[in-house]
Amino acid sequence: MLAPLALTPSFGFGDRLGLATPGHIAAVRGTKFAPIFAQQSVRENARTGRTPQQVIDDAKRSVDAAKWDAPWGADADHLKTVEDIPPFVEAGYTFFTIDPGEHVDNSADTDSLEILKQKVANLNWDELSALYLKEDGDQVWGKFAKSPKGEAESLMRAMVKYGRAIQHAASMFRRLSQMKDEFDFEISVDETDSPTTPLEHFFIASELVRLGVRFTSLAPRFIGRFEKGVDYIGDLNVLDIELEKHAAVTSHFGNYKLSLHSGSDKFSVYPLMAKHWGERIHVKTAGTSYLEALRVLTKHEPDLFMKIYALGRERYEADKKTYHVLAELNKLPKTNDLPSLLDDFHAREVLHVTFGSALTQFGIELKAHFDKHLSLLK
Ligand SMILES: [Zn+2]
Repeated sequence: MLAPLALTPSFGFGDRLGLATPGHIAAVRGTKFAPIFAQQSVRENARTGRTPQQVIDDAKRSVDAAKWDAPWGADADHLKTVEDIPPFVEAGYTFFTIDPGEHVDNSADTDSLEILKQKVANLNWDELSALYLKEDGDQVWGKFAKSPKGEAESLMRAMVKYGRAIQHAASMFRRLSQMKDEFDFEISVDETDSPTTPLEHFFIASELVRLGVRFTSLAPRFIGRFEKGVDYIGDLNVLDIELEKHAAVTSHFGNYKLSLHSGSDKFSVYPLMAKHWGERIHVKTAGTSYLEALRVLTKHEPDLFMKIYALGRERYEADKKTYHVLAELNKLPKTNDLPSLLDDFHAREVLHVTFGSALTQFGIELKAHFDKHLSLLK
């Protein structure tokens, strides 16, 4: 049944085609993870032309057919404004991911001290500095302290960077609380320009608690690059240490899970998460399911696949604008060997980012073929 999953370890399976849930059920059965079978962002719905209700209905059909009788969730992903909330509440979503990224001040990392002082003057500096500037011992995630010159630069940067985003998340929580009694609530800042340090993570969690926000998960922007549908780009040793510090913050509070977005294909990172995060874990994926569906096409409908790939190359520069991706068209493989093309970094990102264009143009054809080959997706 659809239900909030609270602190159970959980795994999100985004399904942009509305056909992949049987595969997701097969993948999660027998594991300790509670599944989110419906998970789409406002951006994804805009690109796939589906409504929150359709997304949930598609997942429900497969859940019923597979006789899945354990709890599962539906994630209204990356909600940015209060106006985004109602259609997801009406459709019965159980998990609400708030993305206050537009209220994050990315220049706080590099602002001069003078600018920072001006900016904190508009925030509740007196109250927060009394609360956070501690002289006692260091924590694993660091601490806010005054410099020898008496400046509290790190706290100023954290407040300027995340202060308004925290306020926005709190107002989204209050709005949602008026509409619904029980729900999972996630705050995600994973799509901001600069990483969230463990100390900033501590600040965000602490402020949310102080403001009475009951949240079940939090998605910082981790260091390195987490691009969609490809493995981690960055130094794994550095990430290892960083993930441990984030986990320390989470266990300090003890009432929420760490959430990894763009979790598709992060095979080198999963062991580190398992090591440090333990049970307090949520992972979101979507890109892999779409790309693996395209892999079915490479075997059975190569002509259609090549049309989608050609459209992808045409649309990539325009469609990539709302994503953080490094793939370049001139680095695509010279030969189009199928299915190994789908293992190439650049081809994967090009195909992934342009899924909306592909579904707009070839959606009906695609679905007809997948229906025919559904047994292969199970
Ligand atoms: Zn995200």
